[in-house]
Amino acid sequence: MFDQLTGNARVKGILKRMLVLDRLPGAMLFTGEEGIGKKLFALEIARALNCRTPKDGEACGVCSSCVRIRKLNYPTRDDADEWTQIIWTDHPDVGLVVAPKRVLRVEQMRQIEKEANFRPFEGKARMFLIDEADKLNDASANALLKVLEEPPKTSHLILITARPAMLLPTILSRCQMIRFSPLTPDEIQSHLVKNDIDAKTARLRARAAGGSVGRALSGDLVTFTSQRKAMLKVLNALVLSDDRAQLLRSAEQLNEAQYKEEFEERLDVLETLIRDAWMLSLGVDTSRIVNEDLSAELKEIAQKIDPSRAGDWILQIEDLREQLIVNVNRKVTTDSLFLVMAGDVTAGKRPKVR
Ligand SMILES: [Zn+2]
Repeated sequence: MFDQLTGNARVKGILKRMLVLDRLPGAMLFTGEEGIGKKLFALEIARALNCRTPKDGEACGVCSSCVRIRKLNYPTRDDADEWTQIIWTDHPDVGLVVAPKRVLRVEQMRQIEKEANFRPFEGKARMFLIDEADKLNDASANALLKVLEEPPKTSHLILITARPAMLLPTILSRCQMIRFSPLTPDEIQSHLVKNDIDAKTARLRARAAGGSVGRALSGDLVTFTSQRKAMLKVLNALVLSDDRAQLLRSAEQLNEAQYKEEFEERLDVLETLIRDAWMLSLGVDTSRIVNEDLSAELKEIAQKIDPSRAGDWILQIEDLREQLIVNVNRKVTTDSLFLVMAGDVTAGKRPKVR
């Protein structure tokens, strides 16, 4: 029942048509950001294929096959050997492999090849998901190619990735690609409310999640709120008080972010604040901004913000992100970012947009 899944109506339409026409490709590639439901959609297809009482090509959701394909039995310990095996659902024909560490291994692809060649034990089709398909290396990709070339009629493979550009062309050319879109804040919010999160918290989380239900559910709201408070200070110092000392203090705090991930989260937050103030300055309604609950503070900033500078700031933050990829000194670049934003230093890397 695709209507139980959140968002991606276009993808639902495509998949449903394939199921109704009995034209599901043997190999598919699901792409799109983390946490937007790619695996849930894949499991839903496995249910539709194996459901005992399907309706219009879709799974009933209540028969014993549907119930058993609901979840994957992930190993409970991080270091368990089972991570290198196929992780099965409660149904003997539906399983998944995931990279135990940094790469998907050749043995895992061989297991899939072997299993894909068996006829279904119980249902009508076997389904194997390859999660984090971007973690295939040359050897495991080649091992997978064998089964991708000629998947047995009763077996289906779905590769899942947020980074399709990392896959070898030989793999890409053998899979039908299905692109998933980020979810809208409203879609995420209604999903959270369905999962017993109160409306106010759901709204805040939905807006902090940047299109990902996964992030909305797992995100730490306390951290988010404090990151946002710190980044609002930066914007205040840039627009309202022109306070260099505050900017340098903020740069220092930003550098205290222990992990690269957390550092990038803070940049994300700063970007959303800048965009919001920018949008408000252009007369956009507060219901369309990310940080709607801060609309009073942001409106004050919006009155003084120079829209063309706001555009430059976003580019400057993006430049910093690029520099971080090549591992330049984070502290030096962050200090200079805020000074560039304040207009003290000229970056001169990119032409300014107006
Ligand atoms: Zn069913």
